Amino acid sequence: MMITYEVGENLYINTTNRCSNACEFCIRTRQEGYGTANSLWLKEEPTKEEILEDILKRDLEKYPELVFCGFGEPFYRIDDILWVVKKLKETKLVTVRINTNGLGDLILGYRVSPKLEGIIDIVSISLNASNAKDYDAICHPEFGEQSFEAMLTFAKTAKEYVPLVIFSVVDVIGTEEIEACRRIAKDCGVEFRIRDEL
Ligand code: SF4
Repeated sequence: MMITYEVGENLYINTTNRCSNACEFCIRTRQEGYGTANSLWLKEEPTKEEILEDILKRDLEKYPELVFCGFGEPFYRIDDILWVVKKLKETKLVTVRINTNGLGDLILGYRVSPKLEGIIDIVSISLNASNAKDYDAICHPEFGEQSFEAMLTFAKTAKEYVPLVIFSVVDVIGTEEIEACRRIAKDCGVEFRIRDEL
């Protein structure tokens, strides 16, 4: 079971294969693994204790960031992730990012961002489209067209509790769409980044 793996200079953490989206560009439709992981498909989800143990096997001082990402949406495991990060931060100086589709409020059925306060340092949200219709067509969220607005609301509320909130887009969506997404990030008061990966 591959829980931790390296991507670039950071340590990534794979906690679930559940996801509320089925994005057209999702890396897991094209390959088994990513970074130093041969396969990120989990036979079963690791427990919070197993996640912590696996992270602690690494030399954490060498990673600028610990990134909860993997082949799934980390917010399905948010309570376990927060438990793990709290434990880590008792003894280690780590910067923790969660890469998310931003639909945590819909997945969990409540406003989740207040829980992140003082624990999570960075939230990076995949924006991927500049409007609900295109988002629905590209990401196929199980919650339908309400997902786009829910994601924007999540970003705006998360910035009240998390030091750095980022909207990211994949570089394949075209210049015009990238610029429209940049404007949305500005309107929401969050950072904007263009990426070439999951
Ligand atoms: S949200 Fe992420 S993990 Fe889920 S389908 Fe989209 S790219 Fe894949």
